[in-house]
Amino acid sequence: MDRRPDPAPETGRVAPTARVAGPWQRQEWLSVGIYWAIHAACLLVFVTGFGWLSLALCLGLFWLRLFGITAGYHRYFSHRAFKTSRVFQFVLALLGCAATQKGPLWWASHHRRHHAFSDQPGDTHSPREGFWWAHQGWIFDARAHATEVARIPDLLVHPELVWLDRWHVVVPLALAAGCFALDGLRGLVVGFCLSTTLLWHATYTINSLAHRFGSQRYATGDDSRNNLWLALLTLGEGWHNNHHHYMASARQGFYWWEIDIAYYGLRALAALGIVRELREPPARVYQQTVPAPEARRAA
Ligand SMILES: [Zn+2]
Ligand SMILES: [Zn+2]
Repeated sequence: MDRRPDPAPETGRVAPTARVAGPWQRQEWLSVGIYWAIHAACLLVFVTGFGWLSLALCLGLFWLRLFGITAGYHRYFSHRAFKTSRVFQFVLALLGCAATQKGPLWWASHHRRHHAFSDQPGDTHSPREGFWWAHQGWIFDARAHATEVARIPDLLVHPELVWLDRWHVVVPLALAAGCFALDGLRGLVVGFCLSTTLLWHATYTINSLAHRFGSQRYATGDDSRNNLWLALLTLGEGWHNNHHHYMASARQGFYWWEIDIAYYGLRALAALGIVRELREPPARVYQQTVPAPEARRAA
């Protein structure tokens, strides 16, 4: 099992005991209000209708930003599963910011904590603390507001990332304005609000459902699961037990039948020379278990 060593003592802007205590203590109500206001704004679709342009914006921005989260925030910034240029690194950070899930440094620091403490005390978003806590409650907790800088020294060396992380909110605001400019209120409601709401919940299923429902190929010691439906919904993130077993891999579907669209996208970008050195699971990962179809045949 490829688990990270225990993290370094926490430094920076977070108290040593932060986020180890139980959930639902200090919600940031302004953020909660904005979150639900964007949900409520989706209902305006009954006034505006859809239209081809707003529908194209909704679907296009959903998939593009999901790639920004999956390939960018998760596989690149959190796990360094491949390499790329400084320019495309910034493009990935911009796409992640556009997903309205805060900045790349904040996201990566919290995600690295998740792997360091998976489903144990200290994990920021374990469903053992409650399904809705893991799905979305933790994001609005005041204890999760700061970035644990001790977990992201490799990202702090890039001043443009530090700058973007600080001003991350400007990106979704500009995107919302752009949707409005393109298709008026319909563009804002369907192209931005509905797309963003769907994107939030698709992403959050990995913290909630993918630690509850599915199969476990590897004894990772946590509740992570492999789930085809979640993999299809999230461009491959649903192979979450695979990922917890070997998190440095750029592919989370370890076998050809485990559909991992983000990985296919990364392979295409590698063919174009935009990304390079995609990390694969080592041979020992494949020797540790019997793949599911073989196991079924043997049974
Ligand atoms: Zn997980
Ligand atoms: Zn991860």
